Amino acid sequence: MGSQDVYCAICSGPFGGAIKIRKPEDNPDEHYDPELIDGTDFEWIRELRCLGLNHYDEGVTRAFLSGRGTYSYGFSLEVEVRGEDPNEPSKDERPLYELYLDMFDDPVFPFHEACYALLARSLYDSADPACIDKDVLYKVMHELVDGTTLRLDYGELLGADQFWYSHPGEEYIACNPSVKHGNNAALQAMLHNKALLHRPPPLDLSARIPTDPFAALPYDVIHTLTTYLDTLSTFSLLKASPYILHFTTPNPTFWKRMIRWEFFHWYPEAASFFACTEFPEGFDFKGAYLWLREVTAPVVGLKGEFMGVANRKRIWNACTELGDYYIEEINREDQGE
Ligand SMILES: [Zn+2]
Repeated sequence: MGSQDVYCAICSGPFGGAIKIRKPEDNPDEHYDPELIDGTDFEWIRELRCLGLNHYDEGVTRAFLSGRGTYSYGFSLEVEVRGEDPNEPSKDERPLYELYLDMFDDPVFPFHEACYALLARSLYDSADPACIDKDVLYKVMHELVDGTTLRLDYGELLGADQFWYSHPGEEYIACNPSVKHGNNAALQAMLHNKALLHRPPPLDLSARIPTDPFAALPYDVIHTLTTYLDTLSTFSLLKASPYILHFTTPNPTFWKRMIRWEFFHWYPEAASFFACTEFPEGFDFKGAYLWLREVTAPVVGLKGEFMGVANRKRIWNACTELGDYYIEEINREDQGE
């Protein structure tokens, strides 16, 4: 025990002071580039709590959310001050939480407060984590536990080794994923991006359209059809049908809807930005959609102002998967199984 790090149950990211930022004398292979994360707030990495199970004398067990704890290398979390959850054991009862593997008590699952807030948002569209059913979440996490994290798709994550490895190119994983309302400075770049200020003319695909079976459908039918498709299926359709590609490319309503569907639920700052911004005549909303996809994609080597948002997208995907298990468990309990 103690010979490795443990990771956030929601994002699989590191805790405490695990990340290393390169100093002039350091080996660049094992450190984050300070120029990419200059001025970044790392405090969120130190703000962690855990979800555990408390046993009562009468045999009742209840999940609890601990107060904010301090993590050091190894499996331990020390909570100096109890949180608001009345089910949390006192420090006398449980002075130290052994994360994931507890020889004497049930496992305890650690996570960043920021990630727990994102889970609440993905499950209930609420910024208040109090809406999460902790007993259900505990049960689900217990079923998914896999060593020092959970069996979830956390995206491409190179750093979560035996000890956290500050892999150059993964700097965005250390960036705060929290929603920051009113922080639309990065999105404003869209309005100054010359490539987006003018919609491209419709593609001339007339030679191919006669062979396209979708060309027999009126546009409003096609519009309705696309509302039933997810993003991947929509793009497959656009690829398969020159007729639909021809009509959707210059259509702002279609691309605004695509932006709303793909981004607004996990990127509410973008929702506010699109609601409050007057876009110039002829603005290329398809281009804006593709640009947003690119700048927020959680990929190794990401740089720039969207690193925190990209980290949120990566975490959101894990929250969605965890949420599916959670909802399944809620439904099972509702049916009395
Ligand atoms: Zn996390």
